[in-house]
Amino acid sequence: AKRRGKNNFQFFIHENENRLVRRNTLEREFKKALNKREFILNYQPKVELKTGVIIGVEALLRWDHPELGPVPPLEFIPIAEETGMIVPLGNWVLKEALRQTKAWQKAGIEMKMAVNVSALQFENHSFIDFVKEMLSNNKLSPKYLILEITESVMQDIKHSAIIIEKLNHIGVQVAIDDFGTGYSSLSVLNKLPIDFLKIDKSFVSEIFNNSNTSSIVKTMIEMGKNLNFGLIAEGIENERQAEFLIQNGCHFGQGYFYSPPLPAEEMEELIKSQLSC
Ligand code: C2E
Ligand code: CA
Ligand code: CA
Ligand code: CA
Repeated sequence: AKRRGKNNFQFFIHENENRLVRRNTLEREFKKALNKREFILNYQPKVELKTGVIIGVEALLRWDHPELGPVPPLEFIPIAEETGMIVPLGNWVLKEALRQTKAWQKAGIEMKMAVNVSALQFENHSFIDFVKEMLSNNKLSPKYLILEITESVMQDIKHSAIIIEKLNHIGVQVAIDDFGTGYSSLSVLNKLPIDFLKIDKSFVSEIFNNSNTSSIVKTMIEMGKNLNFGLIAEGIENERQAEFLIQNGCHFGQGYFYSPPLPAEEMEELIKSQLSC
């Protein structure tokens, strides 16, 4: 038993070493990746649940490294945040997503574009100006842009309130992402001009496994509606979940049941196929 314990210990050290090596590699490669154009955006549709009609898309970042292969955002976003690289990367995402929105418009496809924004970006003093600049560069009305922020972004609630007010003032919509996983209270959210709440996929996946969760989801929908937020459920993977959400009055949804995130061309095909029927 003793020997086994020792092996486990060595295994543990190795695991940590590997993790460290992987992290260092990613950090080094990451810094080059932006210039080498290794990032692309995929788009996942948001549908109106009752009709299944696509009403917009969310831009999701993808990093495909030539040797390492695809690196998941949950692995590289934290690195980008720690190194501050999230600011130039996030700026690129916004620029590219709005370029795509305009390109689709020119092709006769009008889509609202949702873009994820991390805390560092949001707090950056030139963020609002950058958003304005990107909209005007693409000659886009602000009504096509939704910024998704998590509750953790709003740690400094006073500062966040100012930025959200400014976005509201220029006509850009704001969604609270991963709603229910953070600590913000609805009484705080209610004071801010927020347009959408996105019910986190961890709740949606548990609707039928946990009676508490189904009550929580119902309550979130009801409260959100009373406070005049648009409600978007994420991570819908099957029809039962969709039915439950519709029955309980959720407006919009996203998830593999409708479509995974897709490259721009495939997304365009999907939208066109829907328009033609
Ligand atoms: P998120 O914003 O909550 O995005 C939803 C995630 O759920 C995406 O993972 C999406 O691919 C995945 N998803 C969609 N439908 C389903 C489903 O039916 N089931 C399950 N299990 N998952 C589903 P992804 O693309 O790996 O992104 C993970 C997270 O990385 C995002 O979570 C977001 O927080 C972050 N992220 C992605 N792109 C960006 C970006 O451009 N900027 C920033 N700051 N963060 C980003
Ligand atoms: Ca999101
Ligand atoms: Ca989310
Ligand atoms: Ca998330």
